[in-house]
Amino acid sequence: MAVMEHDLVRQDAATLARAMGDGEVSSEEVTRAHLDRITAVDDRVHAFLHVMPERAIAAARDVDRRRAAGEPLGPLAGVPLALKDVLTMEGEPTTCGSRILEGWRPPYDSTVVERLRSADVIILGKTNMDEFAMGSSTEHSAYGPTRNPWDLDRIPGGSGGGSAAALAAFEAPLAIGTDTGGSIRQPAAVTGTVGVKPTYGGVSRYGLVALASSLDQAGPCARTVLDTALLHAAIAGHDARDSTSISAPVPDVVAAARAADVRGMRIGLVRELSGEGYQAGVSQRFDEAVGILTDLGAEVVEVSCPHFEYALAAYYLILPSEASSNLARFDGMRYGLRAGDDDARSVEEVMALTREAGFGAEVKRRIMIGTYALSSGYYDAYYGSAQKVRTLITRDFEAAFDKVDVLVSPTAPTTAFRIGEKVDDPLAMYLNDIATIPVNLAGNAAMSLPIGLAPEDGLPVGLQIMAPPLADDRLYRAGGALEAALVDRWGHLLIEEAPSL
Ligand code: GLN
Repeated sequence: MAVMEHDLVRQDAATLARAMGDGEVSSEEVTRAHLDRITAVDDRVHAFLHVMPERAIAAARDVDRRRAAGEPLGPLAGVPLALKDVLTMEGEPTTCGSRILEGWRPPYDSTVVERLRSADVIILGKTNMDEFAMGSSTEHSAYGPTRNPWDLDRIPGGSGGGSAAALAAFEAPLAIGTDTGGSIRQPAAVTGTVGVKPTYGGVSRYGLVALASSLDQAGPCARTVLDTALLHAAIAGHDARDSTSISAPVPDVVAAARAADVRGMRIGLVRELSGEGYQAGVSQRFDEAVGILTDLGAEVVEVSCPHFEYALAAYYLILPSEASSNLARFDGMRYGLRAGDDDARSVEEVMALTREAGFGAEVKRRIMIGTYALSSGYYDAYYGSAQKVRTLITRDFEAAFDKVDVLVSPTAPTTAFRIGEKVDDPLAMYLNDIATIPVNLAGNAAMSLPIGLAPEDGLPVGLQIMAPPLADDRLYRAGGALEAALVDRWGHLLIEEAPSL
């Protein structure tokens, strides 16, 4: 069936790319369809902070022209994408969801953007996020919350709620997120989409505004496992401009997604990441998915990672410590907002007034916690202890991966909660990250993919797959197999059940 017969915005990236390659549709038509969709629904969803229609259409026309001239193009050429507003794109606003960066236009492309452009992916705009990627609901954006397309009164997850909502609302078939403690995976889980946090160092951080440099990682988001793999392959690989970038070859994630086979794979259920504290419907869908993996020929065993219990506490010391240092650069002198320079004041006063006016409450809270944890009298007790816990968590993973190929857990303890429900309770908000954080502390790779709707509220549930560093391909092999089995069962992808808006 020709792709033109369908609504273009409901197609996945691989299908669109094939249709463009076969000359059934142009990139300009595909791009216009998505821009029209954004115009139609984004006043309700608020996935985007900034849309760039002229630039996107010009890029699409360029792809069409070069295709017509017979130039060889990459596998995602002409496909539209939504970019999280924490990555720079030359000349376009980059706010990180903060007032303090309002009006700042970076003079350079991040490596991720550079690679997307050389892959001829069409960047539609910049997506909403919790301020400086601190949060799990996108409610901490200074520009207002993003809404979950499944239920507009609910959160789309965070910090990358804008990217996930753009996928779930069919505003883009591809998106880029960043994941420091779960900001790709938890939004994917609560919106019924797929998201991958690559191995730390797998994707360059050059041009990614730093939250916690030892944890931050950009990664691919989409509505299918294969699309996520295609995007992963387009952005991953060594970059001399990021000193933590890995020089080893990127595993063949696209071949793994296509292989989609778990026969003989050893899968570990992490005892510490299930049971108490997880919503009943989340646990139910998780158990069913594990049953499917077993039926598909995987060997499923339970494993224990005893130090995961301390992961959240360690993370919420390490992250604020690094953030307090990274965010020192926003001083009113170099970027964006400057407050209080109307009359003769000292430099210190202007800096203090700018930071007071420019940062939101959650950012200030973390800067204060981080500054305290790093202060001379407390450094060993807080930051030092947290780093030791981090090592123990890494060792838990290493011991587990001696026995199994991948680990699985629910991605998030609950389905999407209501807007306003947790925004005034930082601890309740932090608990959303309980299952996603260990991976960031150890630098492993992980995926979230949709496994069904929770019976009690009809909202999407995500399953997390975790792999050792540099074994990102295992995520796609297992995720692809599970997705195929679920599509067989339902007759369609879960996202097809999302309200049409
Ligand atoms: N929710 C986590 C936090 O608030 C995740 C952040 C992230 O991954 N950027 O820190």
